[in-house]
This record gives sequence, C-alpha cells and structure tokens, in this order.
Amino acid sequence: KRSWFSRLRQGLSRTGQNLGGLFVGVKVDESLFEELETALIMADAGMDATTSLLTALRARVKKERLTDAQAVKAALQEILAEHLRPLEKTFPVGRHKPLVMMIAGVNGAGKTTSIGKLAYNFQLQGHRVLLAAGDTFRAAAREQLMAWGERNNVTVIAQDGGDPAAVAFDAVNAGRARDTDIVMVDTAGRLPTQLHLMEELKKIKRVIGKADAQAPHEVLLVVDGNTGQNAIAQIRAFDAAIGLTGLVVTKLDGTAKGGTLAAVAAGAQSVRPVPVYWIGVGEGLEDLQPFVASEFAAALLG
Ligand code: GDP
Repeated sequence: KRSWFSRLRQGLSRTGQNLGGLFVGVKVDESLFEELETALIMADAGMDATTSLLTALRARVKKERLTDAQAVKAALQEILAEHLRPLEKTFPVGRHKPLVMMIAGVNGAGKTTSIGKLAYNFQLQGHRVLLAAGDTFRAAAREQLMAWGERNNVTVIAQDGGDPAAVAFDAVNAGRARDTDIVMVDTAGRLPTQLHLMEELKKIKRVIGKADAQAPHEVLLVVDGNTGQNAIAQIRAFDAAIGLTGLVVTKLDGTAKGGTLAAVAAGAQSVRPVPVYWIGVGEGLEDLQPFVASEFAAALLG
C-alpha cells in the first residue's frame, strides 16, 4: 500500500497500543471488550467515543453472533469508519475566485508547514496561490513563510510588524488583482484562553470580509493529532470565535495516538461536525492527505 498509509499506520500503533494486536489469538469474551476499552482510552479516543464505539460493537457481536476475534475486529473497523464518516469531506476548490482561506491554530500545531504543503499541492493541480503572512509578531514566522514562498515560486504578502488584519486585507486585494485562484491567510498561533488574541482573529476575519464580502470562504483550524481530548476544546473555542469550516489534523505519522479523531467525531455528534479536510502524515510537501474515514479506520486497526 502507499507509503503515507504505512506511516500513518506506524504512527498510530507506536503507542504500544496497536488495536489490531488485541485480536490475535484471543476468545471473544468480556476481557476482550475490557482490553479494547483500555486501548481506546489510551489512544486518546475519550470516554464518549469509547463508550459509543463499544456499545455499537457489543450490539453487533450479539446480533451477528460473532465468535471469531478477527470477525469482531472487522466489525470494529466498520463501526469506526461509520463513526468517522461525518468528518469526511472533499475540499471544494474553485467555487470562488480567489478562494480565500483563513488558517488558525495554537503554536506548533503545524500551521505553517500545512500551509506550505497545501500551497504546493494546489499549485501541482494548476491553481495559482498567494499567501499572506498574518503572523506579524514573530519575524521568524514571517521569514519562514517568505523563504518557503521563494523556493516554491509562491507570492507571499507580508508586512514588518503592523496589523495582521491589514496584511490579510492587502492579500485578498492582491489576489484579485493578480488573477489568483487561492489566497491563504496564515495567522499567528494562539490559545483559545488568550481572549485578546481571539478577538484579533475575529477582526482579521471581519476585515477580510471588507475586501470581499463573501470571504473568507474557508476557515480552517490546524490541530495537532497528539492533542487528544483537548482537540475538542480547541475546535469548540475557535469555532465559536470564527466559525470553522474545516480541520487539518497533523502529525498522525508520529507518536499521535490517533484516537483524537474518534474523540473529535464523538464531540462532533454533540455539536456539529467540522469536517477533516486533510491529515498530516510527515514533514515533507507530499505528506498531506485527504482524510478518508475507512482508510483511517484500517490504519488504526491495522
Ligand atoms: P505552527 O507553529 O503551527 O506554524 O507549526 P509548524 O508548521 O512550524 O510545525 C511545528 C513542527 O511540527 C515542525 O517541526 C513541523 O515540521 C512539524 N510538523 C507539522 N506537521 C507535521 C506532520 O504532519 N508530521 C510530522 N511528523 N511533523 C509535522
């Protein structure tokens, strides 16, 4: 299978809690369910997701009278895929010109890296891309984005210091003037508890709307796949502030426990599903993949 898939699978099983391993050479009894419960919680799926997955699995085992552990594993894989499916959505490119994307997240989530990967992939598909260096505080962040833009022939609108909303505004106008297909507005990393910075994020969104009344067309949150339960709190807080249209979940190749997504799916059932457009499975430019629920479930149980 494709190499990113094996990286995802390795990443998801590196916690020593390879879910698939639990089904080898065992009987289908209460202790298997107990081990599954522990493993799902250890994988950061959270109580809600764990309970709902195992309730569904128990019902299925009973109804279909499953006695073979491998059949139970296959059933869990299907249940997990169903559970994750509401998060699956293809990123709709090309419905506005330029399509304006605003990208937010906490520091270190993988925002800048993901923007680089996205720009690279959009360009490969023949779209013209422009970036806005919305992190006007950290010179290093701006330079990182500009250096990256130069290497990859992507225009980066930046400003030394100053108002990130103004940079975003300029970028949308520049995008229009230059016949650009996609404008990506990077923003400085921030925590949902930093209320003044959350207000700033709202302002950036508002000001983008002054350059193009329908923009931003997409508001993405980049979430580190190692975040576990806290991912739900992040999603809710950013969604409340700026209305998310999608997620990028990064670092699923590393030590990520993978259960984060199950937790997100369970959380989504109690709020509203914010789709996962892409997952990050490495540091290279190709290491961003569309999220496909069935593939993810296969990797998690692999
Ligand atoms: P930002 O602060 O949100 O902009 O985060 P960065 O884009 O600077 O990323 C922080 C670190 O995470 C960098 O070392 C990236 O190379 C790394 N990173 C980002 N995405 C991934 C991923 O999908 N897999 C791995 N292994 N590392 C990633």
